[in-house]
Amino acid sequence: MDTKLFVKGKSVAGKGKDEPVLDPASGKLLANVPEASPEQIEAAVKAADAAFAGWSATSPRDRATALLKLADRIEGAAAELATIESRNCGKPHAAVLADEIPAVADVFRFFAGAARTMHGAVAGEYQAGFTSMIRRDPVGVVASIAPWNYPLLMAAWKVAPALAAGNTVVLKPSEQTPLSSLRLALLAADLFPPGVFNVICGRGASVGAPLVAHPLVAMISLTGDVATGEKILAAAAKGTRRTHLELGGKAPVVVFDDADLDAVVAGVRTFGFYNAGQDCTAACRLYAEGRIYEKLVADLSHAVASIKVGTQLEEGVEMGPLITAKHRTRVAGFVSRADDKKHMEVTTGGHARAGAGFFYEPTVIAGARQTDEIVRKEVFGPVVTVTRFKDTAQAIDWANDSDYGLASSVWTKDAGRAMEVAARLRYGCTWVNTHFMLVSEMPHGGLKRSGYGKDLSMYALEDYSLVRHVMVKW
Ligand code: NAD
Repeated sequence: MDTKLFVKGKSVAGKGKDEPVLDPASGKLLANVPEASPEQIEAAVKAADAAFAGWSATSPRDRATALLKLADRIEGAAAELATIESRNCGKPHAAVLADEIPAVADVFRFFAGAARTMHGAVAGEYQAGFTSMIRRDPVGVVASIAPWNYPLLMAAWKVAPALAAGNTVVLKPSEQTPLSSLRLALLAADLFPPGVFNVICGRGASVGAPLVAHPLVAMISLTGDVATGEKILAAAAKGTRRTHLELGGKAPVVVFDDADLDAVVAGVRTFGFYNAGQDCTAACRLYAEGRIYEKLVADLSHAVASIKVGTQLEEGVEMGPLITAKHRTRVAGFVSRADDKKHMEVTTGGHARAGAGFFYEPTVIAGARQTDEIVRKEVFGPVVTVTRFKDTAQAIDWANDSDYGLASSVWTKDAGRAMEVAARLRYGCTWVNTHFMLVSEMPHGGLKRSGYGKDLSMYALEDYSLVRHVMVKW
């Protein structure tokens, strides 16, 4: 396991406090990763700042070449990366290998191409005797702060567009899951000039906060909790720095009577419980119309009870543990408070699994009401609620009645109704008759307290670059 930071093109042991990194499936120590010391945070930002002039002046073709080579190396190291990620997060190894690592490589490939094909307003004479043109230039040093749920994928979503646009990066992975990002740094080591891509480890308070407060950091990009987003905004206010925030979610899933029930059940079984529901887009807040409600609850509960929970390499495992014991206690608290209310019923699951690791049963809660805590707060675990609605207007009202605005889905065979609901939902993404599908070409990002700024797609490249006007007098 690589446990060293990567600063100015070199691996260096962190000089700060040791941070224990656990295997969530066993609760055992995987590695101690020393945090970056204040001097090492300073060195990483200074290295990124010093590298900016050279990297920002490279051609899109040269940046694309480096990103494409990195994508090839990621694919070449797929088995190793999947092992690191699945051990550090407790995820089923087969799913990481089949889903996450190819997506990581694809993100680097997409932004390699995107860097070479940016387009925008045409140059022209908007005032007689003057030619105007638009430039898109890199921002500077980007501090990228990543979460623990998809450590490598979230790192890729941040690092690939930032580097493609000509910025330099200091990445800080989550203190719980730094291992795959440290491996990524070594895979990239000779592809970028020293200082262009740095990885430093540590906790939010001791490393994240001083990193984002550093005056040489021009842009802060966070994927994380809403509360962390607000701290980042406060830090960014000093120096009026640019921010890009991908925060939490509580995705509504609106199911009409005419929906294909089997498809809904299969979809929610997959997209509500993938990564143990530790997903900001998880299909967790179902609204079912009157006639489909009972059968949906029955069929879904039956299907969810069949999800195979287990350790990373178990045959056929579909769902792993939660990330930490503390997070499991938090998830269990939501479920037990819901269970205490007479109008709700836990139709399957509802318990922590005995024994080693931080496992929690896949859980369905029926009879939830719009005002219930479990409907309003992000649980970030394998828990799906079902609420009955009476008509389209109520479904849209309830779906939109949330602090969050990241992802949503609508399930119906009526194309007109699907279009109407999709138009009225206040979410960064609405899927119709599916959920959770992401492609590198399309944007991912939220509204409301889910943040702003887009990951993936040309929009991310725009977010990581600045619009400038150059006017030339004839
Ligand atoms: P978190 O906010 O606790 O931590 C995220 C990162 O921020 C970590 O690296 C952490 O060390 C760092 N951090 C914490 N405090 C900081 C500070 N004061 N200054 C700088 N950095 C700081 O979130 P988490 O628990 O790792 O991840 C779960 C959250 O992430 C959930 O709310 C989830 O919805 C959200 N998430 C959102 C998306 C999205 O695309 N919108 C994707 C994945 C996860």
